[in-house]
Amino acid sequence: MTALYLPSLIRIGGGALNELPAALKQAGLSKPFIITDNFMAKTGLLGRVQTLLEKAGFQSGAFQDAVPDPTVTSVEAALTALKSQTYDCVIGLGGGSPIDTAKMVAVLAKHGGSPAQLKVPHVQDEVGLPIIAIPTTAGTGSEATRVTVITDEKTDEKMLCAGYAYLPHIAIVDYELTLTMPRRLTADTGTDALTHAIEAYVSKRASPFTDALALSAMKRIWHALPIACAEPSSKTAREQVMQGAFEAGMAFSNASVALVHGMSRPIGAHFHVAHGLSNAMLLPEITAWSVAGAQARYATCARVMGIAPSGMDDSAACAALVTALRERNHELDVPTPSTYGLEETRWNTLLPLMAEQALASGSPDNNPRIPTEEDIIALYQKVWA
Ligand code: NAD
Repeated sequence: MTALYLPSLIRIGGGALNELPAALKQAGLSKPFIITDNFMAKTGLLGRVQTLLEKAGFQSGAFQDAVPDPTVTSVEAALTALKSQTYDCVIGLGGGSPIDTAKMVAVLAKHGGSPAQLKVPHVQDEVGLPIIAIPTTAGTGSEATRVTVITDEKTDEKMLCAGYAYLPHIAIVDYELTLTMPRRLTADTGTDALTHAIEAYVSKRASPFTDALALSAMKRIWHALPIACAEPSSKTAREQVMQGAFEAGMAFSNASVALVHGMSRPIGAHFHVAHGLSNAMLLPEITAWSVAGAQARYATCARVMGIAPSGMDDSAACAALVTALRERNHELDVPTPSTYGLEETRWNTLLPLMAEQALASGSPDNNPRIPTEEDIIALYQKVWA
C-alpha cells in the first residue's frame, strides 16, 4: 500500500497566477494573508497579487520580510503580523523560503508551539490554516511537499519539520514568475530540483507513482536547465524546469529525499550556503558513493537523461552518470566548499556535529546505501576540495 499526498487544487502554466482568485473561491477561502520577501515587494509582484485579489473582492494582509533560509525569528515576526487580524488562509509567495515560512506560520497560527517542538521525529498531520503556495523559483518543489525547513539561528540547525499539515492546499505554478531569476539562482534552484528527482527515484521509499514523476522531472531538468541558464528569457526552457521542479517536489514529498539533502542542510545552517548550491556541491560525489546500493536505478537515471545509451551496461551507465554530474557542475560554475571560501578549520571542527545533524534528519536512512557517521564525515572531507 502506498499513501500519496498532493495539493488539492493545482493551476499550472504561463499566466496561472491570474487564476489565484478563482482557486481561492473554489476552496471557499476569503481572507488570505500573504507572506513574501523584500524582492517580491520591490519588484512589484506582491502589488500585482494584491491588486488581483482586491479586484476580485478579497481583503488581504501581507508580511514582506521573509528571509532566505527562514529563521525562527522571521517566522515569529510573520506570525505576529498575521495575528493582528483574522485571516482564513496563508499564501507563500516567492522561493522556498517565503513558502516554508508560510507553512510554519499556518501551523503555529492554529496550534501554537514553536518550530523546535515540531521538528522531526515529530510529525504534524493535524492541519493548520490552509496554505496556498506560489513559487517564483523553479527548485524546491515546496509548493507540493509535506515539509518545511526552518533554521534555529541560536543552534545553527536547519530543522526539518514534516507532516500533512505542511502540504499546500492550492499550488499556483506559473513559470513566467521565474523569468527574472539570474543565472546563479537558476542554476542552484534547478540543481536542487534535479537532486530531488534523483533522490526520490533511488530512495528506499520510492513507489511506481513517484518513479514516474521523478523520471519525467530529471529528464526535463537535465535538458532544459543549461538553456535556462544561458538564455534566461527562454520561455520553453523556463517552463520545462518549472514543470520538472513541481514533478520532483511531488515525487520526493511521497518518496523522501536521501543522503545529499541530509548532508546539505548542515552546510546551509552553519555556513549559509544557498540550499541548491550546497546540494550541487555534494551531488556528484554522494552519487558516486551511493551507486553501489542501487546500480540499476542509477543506470536508469543515466539512460532517461540521455547520458548513457540504452545498450550500455549498468556499471558503465553509473560511471557515465557520475562523470556527467561532475561536468555539469563545471559547466554551471559550482564551487567546492573550499573554493567557495568556507573556513577550513571551522569546517573540520564542525564535521562531527554536521554528520550527527545529517543522520538525525532521517534523510540518510532512505539512501540506497546507508552511511555511518564516519562515512558521512569522510564524504564531507572528500567534497571539501
Ligand atoms: P529563496 O526562497 O531562499 O530565495 C533566494 C533569493 O532569490 C531571495 O533573495 C529571493 O528574493 C530571490 N528570488 C526568488 N525568486 C526570484 C525570482 N523569480 N527572480 C529573482 N530573484 C528571486 O530560494 P529557494 O532556493 O527557492 O528556497 C530555499 C529554501 O527552501 C531553503 O530554506 C531550503 O531549505 C528550502 N527548501 C524547502 C523545501 C520544501 O519542500 N519545503 C525543499 C527544498 C528546499
